[in-house]
Amino acid sequence: MSKRKRQEEEKYITIGRFYDKIIPPFNKSKCWIWREVPTSGGYGIFSLNGKSIPAHRLSWILHFGEIPTGIEILHSCDTRLCVNPYHLFQGTQGDNVRDCTKKKRNGKSRGEDHPFSKLKDEQIALVVKRGQNGEKYKNIAADLGISTISVGDILRGNSWKHLTGGVVVRRQRPRTTPEQFSLARGIFQKTGNISEACRVTNINRGSFYYWLERS
Ligand SMILES: [Zn+2]
Repeated sequence: MSKRKRQEEEKYITIGRFYDKIIPPFNKSKCWIWREVPTSGGYGIFSLNGKSIPAHRLSWILHFGEIPTGIEILHSCDTRLCVNPYHLFQGTQGDNVRDCTKKKRNGKSRGEDHPFSKLKDEQIALVVKRGQNGEKYKNIAADLGISTISVGDILRGNSWKHLTGGVVVRRQRPRTTPEQFSLARGIFQKTGNISEACRVTNINRGSFYYWLERS
């Protein structure tokens, strides 16, 4: 077996173990609570290749990829045991401290008031404009130095709603059908190759994980 294929397979096994440790349902807006005993700091913990890794950090890696050095994964929901990828965002150690202090002082902040918010009002306007022009989320995200998921959240009205007024752009690509997904999952289970399964069935990786969470 090639190294890449083995890595894909290991990742699939890890994903399976990861989801076994979460209390369902895997709803995008609700917290996904880790079912095992937390660390003294209150975080979930996962054992991977003989090492312990905080469960919310693993969730980030599985859904979005590697975490750059020195970057903390923070919770927008303030629930340390939560591993819902949609409730996580990147920040620095300093952000974490400032966030705690600010939340204690002011309650939850939003939008630009948020201390580690990367975006400013005019950047949100730019995301909206480019989104409405039909540009790819990926390209907008790369230019602004934010994640594709953040761009999607803005354009779907899940974040910065007070600036955008709600849903700005309707879904870009055709919806993945249940048949398409079950075909992709079948190929994946047989071959252990996510890329191949997604390529053959013409669905993107994000949709595949999204459906996997709900299957
Ligand atoms: Zn949460």
